[in-house]
Amino acid sequence: MRIPLWHTATRVSRALLRVLLPLRCLVCNDDGHDGLDLCAACYAELPWAGRACLRCALPLPDNALIVCGTCREEVPPQAATHASLLYLPPVDQLLVRYKFHQDLAAGRLLAQLMQRAPPPWSCAPLVPVPLHNRRVRQRGYNQAAELCRLLPMPVWQGLYRRRHTAPQSERSAEQRRDNLFDAFATRGSAPVRLTLVDDVMTTGSTVMEIAETLRLVGTEEVRVWVCARVP
Ligand SMILES: [Zn+2]
Ligand SMILES: [Zn+2]
Repeated sequence: MRIPLWHTATRVSRALLRVLLPLRCLVCNDDGHDGLDLCAACYAELPWAGRACLRCALPLPDNALIVCGTCREEVPPQAATHASLLYLPPVDQLLVRYKFHQDLAAGRLLAQLMQRAPPPWSCAPLVPVPLHNRRVRQRGYNQAAELCRLLPMPVWQGLYRRRHTAPQSERSAEQRRDNLFDAFATRGSAPVRLTLVDDVMTTGSTVMEIAETLRLVGTEEVRVWVCARVP
C-alpha cells in the first residue's frame, strides 16, 4: 500500500509540533503534565467512573448489587458496559469540543484517558458506533471511529448505519429506540466477541440496538466501552 506524501508530511509535522510545542492543559491552559494536554490540578479533579452496574455502567452506591434494578428487570443485550469517566465537568466540555467543534486535541486527550481506565476484561477487537455517511460529511469525522483509531487495539470495520436518523437528544428512551429501529447493519462475517466503542452513553438505546443487531449476525458476546457515562 502506498502512503500519500501529504499524509507522511502531516504525520512528521505533527510529531515535530509535539516536540516543539509544550503540552498545554486543554481545560485551564496551564502546563500539561505526565504526557497529557492536562495539568496536574485538572487531572486530579477528573470525574473517573467509580462503582457501577456491570451491564449498563450506571453509577451505583458502594453497598448495592453489581447489577442495577433496571438491568435486573430487563436484561440488556450487551454482556457488560464499562465507562472510563462520568459525563461531568470538565469531561463534558471536552467531549462537546471534540464532537461538535472539530477539537481533535480534545479527542486525543479523551482517548488517552480511556486508556488509563480501561475495562477489566480483554476488549479486542473494537468496533465504533457508526455514523451515517451524511453525518460524517457534515462533521468531517466519526468521533467514535477516531477514538478507536487512537486506542492500541485492532478495530473491526464491518458495522455501518444504513439509514440516517434524527438526532437522539430531547427524545425519551422509548422514542430513541423507535428512532433507531433497523438503523444498523453489518458486512462480512462478524467476530464472535466484540467491544462496541462510543464517546458518550446516555440512555444506552444506541448500544442496545447495535448489540441486538450484532447478536443476530452471530456475535455471541457484545461488550461496550464508552469514554463517559451520563450519570
Ligand atoms: Zn488545567
Ligand atoms: Zn444497569
